[in-house]
Amino acid sequence: MRLLIVEDEQRLARSLARGLTAEGFAVDVVHDGAEGLHRATTVDYDLIVLDIMLPRMNGYRVCSALRAAGDETPILMLTAKDGEYDEAEGLDTGADDYLTKPFSYVVLLARIRALLRRRARGASPVLRAGALTLDPAARRVLLHGAEIALTTKEFSVLEVLARRPGEVVSKAGILDHVWDFAYDGDPNIVEVYVSALRRKLGPGLIRTVRGAGYRLDGQAATDA
Ligand code: CA
Repeated sequence: MRLLIVEDEQRLARSLARGLTAEGFAVDVVHDGAEGLHRATTVDYDLIVLDIMLPRMNGYRVCSALRAAGDETPILMLTAKDGEYDEAEGLDTGADDYLTKPFSYVVLLARIRALLRRRARGASPVLRAGALTLDPAARRVLLHGAEIALTTKEFSVLEVLARRPGEVVSKAGILDHVWDFAYDGDPNIVEVYVSALRRKLGPGLIRTVRGAGYRLDGQAATDA
């Protein structure tokens, strides 16, 4: 899961990014609205945390520009002001939820998880490929009905493949969803995680397609 934080208070942005990274999210941080809009339109984020009072372009405008372009990425707005007017305006422009500063990190995390669960239910509930079941909301993986313990990064790599079962996903495609912009290391890191997944799930499930990427095999189906 990859998140974008658009927040001009650098200390707050850094501490949010640190906490969310520790939870297993890939996190990008930008400090003004125009850059936020640019990133949001060039990267497929799972959720955006968007401050309202921002340099260059305020959060309301960023949000309404994204919605006008048909982008339905969940948006959690942060506001320093406390009042129904702001809440109404935030939700009017297409935000999914809002949080008034100062807020507790625990509450922020709960809201983020709730938005991601809500979206997971709407878009793709439980993913299945053959004997494999992956529940993005509960972050659980079952193989032949038995739970397999995965690290957060292993889970994220598998989730990218499980969302497109039977299709080849490139290393770059996996990197984009699991690692953030700050990662400038070797794309072959993906191989390390695929190897770990094969050790835990057996060798046959994730196929290497030479020169193209990886494919999750098995008869794929998704819960209705
Ligand atoms: Ca601000």
